[in-house]
Amino acid sequence: MKTVKSQFKFKGGVHPDYNKELARNQPIEKLATPAELVISMSQHLGAPAKCLVKVGDFVKRGQLIGEKNGFISVCVRASADGKVKAIEKRLGPAGGMADAVILDTTAKEEALAEGTETPTPSAPKGPILPPLDWKTATKEELLKRVEEAGICGMGGAGFPTNVKLSPPPGKRCEYLILNGAECEPYLTADYRVMLERAPRIRLGVEIMRKILGMPAVRIAIEANKPEAIKAMEEAFADIEGNVEIVVLPVLYPQGSEKHQIYATVKRIVPEPPALPIDVGCVVENVGTVAAISDAVELGEPLLERVTTVSGDAVATPKNILAPCGTKYSDLVAFCGGEKIPPAKIISGGTMMGFAVSTLDIGTTKTTSGLLLLSPSRVFQYSSQACINCGRCLRACPMNLNPAEISKAMEADDVKTAEDAHVMTCIECGACSFGCPAYRTITQFCRRAKASIRARMAAERAAAQAAAEKEKQKAEGAKAN
Ligand code: SF4
Ligand code: SF4
Repeated sequence: MKTVKSQFKFKGGVHPDYNKELARNQPIEKLATPAELVISMSQHLGAPAKCLVKVGDFVKRGQLIGEKNGFISVCVRASADGKVKAIEKRLGPAGGMADAVILDTTAKEEALAEGTETPTPSAPKGPILPPLDWKTATKEELLKRVEEAGICGMGGAGFPTNVKLSPPPGKRCEYLILNGAECEPYLTADYRVMLERAPRIRLGVEIMRKILGMPAVRIAIEANKPEAIKAMEEAFADIEGNVEIVVLPVLYPQGSEKHQIYATVKRIVPEPPALPIDVGCVVENVGTVAAISDAVELGEPLLERVTTVSGDAVATPKNILAPCGTKYSDLVAFCGGEKIPPAKIISGGTMMGFAVSTLDIGTTKTTSGLLLLSPSRVFQYSSQACINCGRCLRACPMNLNPAEISKAMEADDVKTAEDAHVMTCIECGACSFGCPAYRTITQFCRRAKASIRARMAAERAAAQAAAEKEKQKAEGAKAN
């Protein structure tokens, strides 16, 4: 195992203020189970899970409460014991509405059954899933475990991990890349996981290598995290095979999957629908890798995660290990509350996160950060006409023309945005970051992509309906 410097710099990128000093030295603290959890059925990329419980049911920690609902989908398990007090649409961390199970974790099943409010002692706790010996387990057993543990990418995208670890026929993973870049300003959750859970990451890598047929491993970390590099060097010191730690230059969006692949192995992922596996790569966030080791060795599904709560309007910034479904308000209370009333609340980081207007949102498997910013950190502006300065073109790491896309979308011209390859936009925010006209370019890109996706979904549904009609017609003719 050796440590090398990345030799490959991608085009574009920006240097925002990182502001990581607020939380980087705060060890991970575990939050006790809150009185109420808001557990979304849509914590991942793809089809929401199908809810399996009803109001009034008691569930146990780890119990399956949502089954995966298609190939690109992930199951959901209860992150605590409790009583289902409602199932309703709730606002999610990314701003969309989704079905959520509202769990009252103070209710006691045995006590209520007896008609008394006296809590009864909990049954002794054992592993939720039977622990597996990864050395003797088959590849299929390990993959099944990743799936039944409900693991998805914890870096933000939420792609189902079992799907990522199952290259399609004819494709082979040559490089397994661990994403430890965490280039989003303020966020330090992955950093702390690398410092505090390095042996779990090492074990996760061993398991993934077995599943993927022993690819080479590249551990990608930005140069501004020397302690994390050291922790990984120590954890992987005696690992066998082709394993390298690649120190990346500090440049946003270095944590983007495509840019990390380029920076580590100099391969270029073609335009969507191409995926990293098309160039022989699988990229996994370090937190996801640790979750895989917990699921296999300890039988612990993905029920909790580390979230950074930071910003200058929160009393004490922290890295908090909390059950999925913990409300933002409980996270902030655990940090000592608000120091001053925030002018802006951001779900995620300042570059790719979403501004939200309430703390009544439950965390998900992908919630990496929550920021509370004071008025002094929030720049008030009004969007102006493009002055054709070209700064956004230089900043865009995807070689797009963000100015053209923003102008097209101002006129609701989705076709022009599509022709300008907006679907390859990774929504990194680098274009908006330096725009002297304060144009909301990234939001224009998001709107264009949503509109194109909706049209494609409608086209697919129409094609399916037409095929079904043809099939029925053919069956009718055959019967006659
Ligand atoms: S157009 Fe998309 S990919 Fe390019 S800088 Fe803007 S947000 Fe990033
Ligand atoms: S940075 Fe802003 S003003 Fe400059 S070209 Fe891009 S959209 Fe126009």
